[in-house]
Amino acid sequence: MAPRKRRLCVEKRTAGKGGGSDQPPPSSSPSSSPSPRKSARLSRLPLPSGNVTMKRQSPIDIRTETVCEDKDHCQIESVKIDYVVGDCKSVSCSAGGWKVQVGENCSSFFAARHLPAKFKLEQFHAHWSEDGTCGSEHTLNGKALSGEVHFVFYNTTYGSFADALAKDDGLAVIGVFIKEGSHNANYQPLVDVIRRAAECGVEQEMPKDFHIRSLLPPLDERDFVTYEGSLTTPPYSEAVIWTVLTHPVQVSAEQLNVFRKIVSKNYRDCQDLCDRRVRVTRAAAVAH
Ligand SMILES: [Zn+2]
Repeated sequence: MAPRKRRLCVEKRTAGKGGGSDQPPPSSSPSSSPSPRKSARLSRLPLPSGNVTMKRQSPIDIRTETVCEDKDHCQIESVKIDYVVGDCKSVSCSAGGWKVQVGENCSSFFAARHLPAKFKLEQFHAHWSEDGTCGSEHTLNGKALSGEVHFVFYNTTYGSFADALAKDDGLAVIGVFIKEGSHNANYQPLVDVIRRAAECGVEQEMPKDFHIRSLLPPLDERDFVTYEGSLTTPPYSEAVIWTVLTHPVQVSAEQLNVFRKIVSKNYRDCQDLCDRRVRVTRAAAVAH
């Protein structure tokens, strides 16, 4: 086997400020210091509470010089997203965006070598902005993408999502970057149901044949970074083991405009990395 190189993983960088989590997106978040994206963000945010030290907040700026390539810990082949068709039941819209909720008997799971247990799907949602130049929560070398979908799972070691929220390793969230570009036929059934939910103001049923796979990058584009962080929305619980895929999926401006009609922007600023280590499948995967 080829020798593995490890990159320096020591440094804390300063990307943004602090706070973070990942749940249904509210339209505000605590931020504290200026960042390049600050002007696009909301201010006057509530202070975090609960298990929040501000030392492991999300999102963060993922930078080539601070990630560690770790092929033992980060193995694409070990990632198992076992989705059971029918588990995603409904879409609802609120002031913070849209959210797809699972049914009571959900049995869709996420497991991977970099996770300490099996995690069960709870919901998914997205973040975006009023135009394609920003909207993602995580950034790559300081550059934002147009949006980010978050698939939220909780640790089955704990009894419920609520219990898991209070634990250091309670949640696992998969982040998928959206890049405004060509029409994405795989996203259209979801976009259609979100449009209906927004127009009617009433929860809508998900298409019966929906599969999470349709929202992810193809299998050969599943490089990821992982780090310990938080929800990016209140209560900003520091409970999340993040898995952020570095290859974006393309979605058209017309499709993103359906999200923008619900709320023009709902992303949080990058937070301080502090002493955290960010691991990646391949260092080159960050250099997009
Ligand atoms: Zn989120």
